[in-house]
Amino acid sequence: MTFIAPILLAIFALAFVGIWGACRIILTEHRYNFLLAYGASFLAFSLAMLVQFAHMPDDAGYNAIISGSLYIGACLLLVKGILGRSNRTLPAAFYAGVFFAILVPLSYFYYIDRNLIARIYLLNFGMGGIFLFLAARANFLRHGTVTDRILFWLVVALGLQFFVSIPLTIGSVTAIQHLPPVERLRELTTTSFWIWSKGSVTLLGATIGLGLITISGADIITALRGERDTDPLTGALNRRGLDTHLPQLLARNNRAAVSVIVCDLDYFKSINDTYGHAVGDAVLTHFTQILKKSIRSTDLVARIGGEEFVLVLAGMTVENAYLFAERIRKAVQSQHFEKVAPTQIITCSFGITGFRKHDDLWAAVKRADGILYAAKKAGRNRTYAEGIAA
Ligand code: GH3
Ligand code: MG
Ligand code: MG
Repeated sequence: MTFIAPILLAIFALAFVGIWGACRIILTEHRYNFLLAYGASFLAFSLAMLVQFAHMPDDAGYNAIISGSLYIGACLLLVKGILGRSNRTLPAAFYAGVFFAILVPLSYFYYIDRNLIARIYLLNFGMGGIFLFLAARANFLRHGTVTDRILFWLVVALGLQFFVSIPLTIGSVTAIQHLPPVERLRELTTTSFWIWSKGSVTLLGATIGLGLITISGADIITALRGERDTDPLTGALNRRGLDTHLPQLLARNNRAAVSVIVCDLDYFKSINDTYGHAVGDAVLTHFTQILKKSIRSTDLVARIGGEEFVLVLAGMTVENAYLFAERIRKAVQSQHFEKVAPTQIITCSFGITGFRKHDDLWAAVKRADGILYAAKKAGRNRTYAEGIAA
């Protein structure tokens, strides 16, 4: 019975390592090391409890220092993991500083001025303080998804419970203060302080563990969707990504002011033939960067074929889209592309149409493609738009 809590926390630790391993296999982008921090945190919590419950080591001093280190380490690893998930970091000096700021006085109150009550306050308020600090640092979770918000409040609850439960239950420890050390250590586990604090930490820990697993699942699904919808070479959307993101764009904008541009690099085959496929790939990537930098966050850019791209521009009439495309066209022809001879000018052509009332995206793309074909036939490096004389 006593060991249920450490076993449960160790299972969570294993689960996180398992999820981390799965991420490495199924996702191409590896930025999931924070899952290992979760795993290490739960393992440290589990070991801390094991050290205390099993009286291993039996020496009360060593036991207090080892379990104390593990508890503090576990809290700090959770901070590292939760912040790491959002690509936020704290300097190593911070972690070391907090660790020793709690551990040194903890040792003092055992070896120099033996005081169990002071140690309990120090360790528990220390842990509570770390969680409240985490909540302050991870305040952004409050504006995130439902699971993010639940996680935020769980961290707050976990932090606060130390400050509430310890003063309320510490009396039960004062009552056994007179016992000799070894006996007192054994009696400690029967006090209401012990039962409440370990029970609540286990319950909240398990809830946070489940919360983190749920969030990790949601994160993985989002990442998989992102990979499914993205062209791996250029990072632009692919056809499927365009289909996925278009409804949102159309829902937020008047269709009459949505323009569709099809854009194709000119004589791209000769770039490949002259410089090789790898350089061709680099040109495509660079070209995509130019497109991405030119659009607003509400617009879409997708690579729908070898060197053919679609831009969907929100709130832009065909006239404005024409001016927009012309700017890109001029930027591309004056750009130097890496590993390509400085004298080599790379150009592209554009075909533009407006989104019609009952238009289907691919019908609009086909129309724009027809206009692009005319631009190609007319000599390339030009922009043709529906209703605008070239
Ligand atoms: P046009 O001006 O008429 O568009 O001529 P083009 O040479 O650009 O067009 P064409 O359709 O004849 O050739 C397109 C070339 O694009 C052929 C193919 O080798 C190349 N291509 C397609 N996909 C990729 C890719 O992923 N990487 C590279 N490097 N080349 C690609
Ligand atoms: Mg081409
Ligand atoms: Mg083409």
